[in-house]
Amino acid sequence: MDARRSVVRGDLLVEGGRIARIGRGLRAPRGAEIIDCAGKAVIPGLVQAHVHLCQVLFRNHADGLELLDWLSQRIWPFEAAHDARSLGFSARLGIAELLLSGTTSVLDMATVRHTEAVLEAARVSGIRYTGGKCLMDKAGQGPLGEPTAAALRETEALGRKWHGAEAGRIRYALCPRFVLSCSEELLGEVRRLSAEHGWLIHTHAGENRAEVALVRKQTGRDNVSYFDSLGLCGPRTVLAHCVYLSPRELRTLARTGTSAVHCPGANLKLASGIANVPALIKAGVNVALGADGAPCNNTLDAFHELRLAATLHLPRSGPRAMPAAEVLAMATIRGATALGLASEIGSLEEGKAADLTIVDLTAPHCQPAGPDPHATLVYCARASDVTDVLVAGRPLVRARKLLTLDAGALAAQAAVEARRVLKRVTT
Ligand SMILES: [Zn+2]
Repeated sequence: MDARRSVVRGDLLVEGGRIARIGRGLRAPRGAEIIDCAGKAVIPGLVQAHVHLCQVLFRNHADGLELLDWLSQRIWPFEAAHDARSLGFSARLGIAELLLSGTTSVLDMATVRHTEAVLEAARVSGIRYTGGKCLMDKAGQGPLGEPTAAALRETEALGRKWHGAEAGRIRYALCPRFVLSCSEELLGEVRRLSAEHGWLIHTHAGENRAEVALVRKQTGRDNVSYFDSLGLCGPRTVLAHCVYLSPRELRTLARTGTSAVHCPGANLKLASGIANVPALIKAGVNVALGADGAPCNNTLDAFHELRLAATLHLPRSGPRAMPAAEVLAMATIRGATALGLASEIGSLEEGKAADLTIVDLTAPHCQPAGPDPHATLVYCARASDVTDVLVAGRPLVRARKLLTLDAGALAAQAAVEARRVLKRVTT
């Protein structure tokens, strides 16, 4: 996924956590561990620029609803019922799914309380994590609402403690939930903290028609215009969804370098609509990819999102609207750009961090191989084809087995843990 989308047949040498050499017939240094990748594709570790690890435990418990009802009737009461134990479990379960299916980096939005349980799960798992506490201070947020000053105090303390932890593998992001949950005072302070510390701003915008109408009613503006009027748009800002954007908002995203995250699986399941990704890309907006929450998708499988992103836009925009290589870029180099990590990850280039996903392309559903391996990866490959995953050169998945967490035990225990949380829910 370099600028020329080069495809190399050969070897890749990892040293000191970085890609040291790429080429044909490389000699392995003495004592090096060798992973035989015959028949496999070695690709940049997949990047998902919008997920909610805190919601993974609510998978299969929030189906059949549209966004605003889904939030107020299910997700907010569920999130409010979390304790640190259930939240940590939810995050570990989600990270296990992500790593086993080839995602090495996420931009996450935690919930309002117990954020350290998510950061701790990220720390022990080895995943490359950017995320932070969810901010909700406006009146009417139910059990998740917080006083403005308390929310800001906690998020700044968390950012100061965690940003840059684990040799930079963990980074902090300011996460105001969306316009409808946040006061203007809070958003102004988010802008100030982001400028002061260099932390990303991760939020939602233009996901659903009813949401856009409410934003207009409350602020007199559209989502992006409102954020821009508060100085929130810019290269450190990442907006999930962007399904409903006016032409003016589209131009604002391009002008300010604000990233958009396409979440087709979630947008379809919540019946939100389909973002006009070809128009965003044509306008020069950086578009990344994300699965969003497990209860609105209901999977965190990046290959599912890749296939949707590659196929959804064909009828509207012509058969060449979304070439496979450009779709794969959304889940790699464009995701890395959204996270501010394009010089570190997102492509296989010498000197970059060795975040690698290895995909077996020998199964019947990937054969016969065609001339473009990007197409095989985007149209044919599945999560279960991922055999090995490395982050900064550290193997986290080997031969389809997760090394840092007990994925089997997490799955077996999930129903019990979910029952424990759902029992506490007060709607
Ligand atoms: Zn979301």
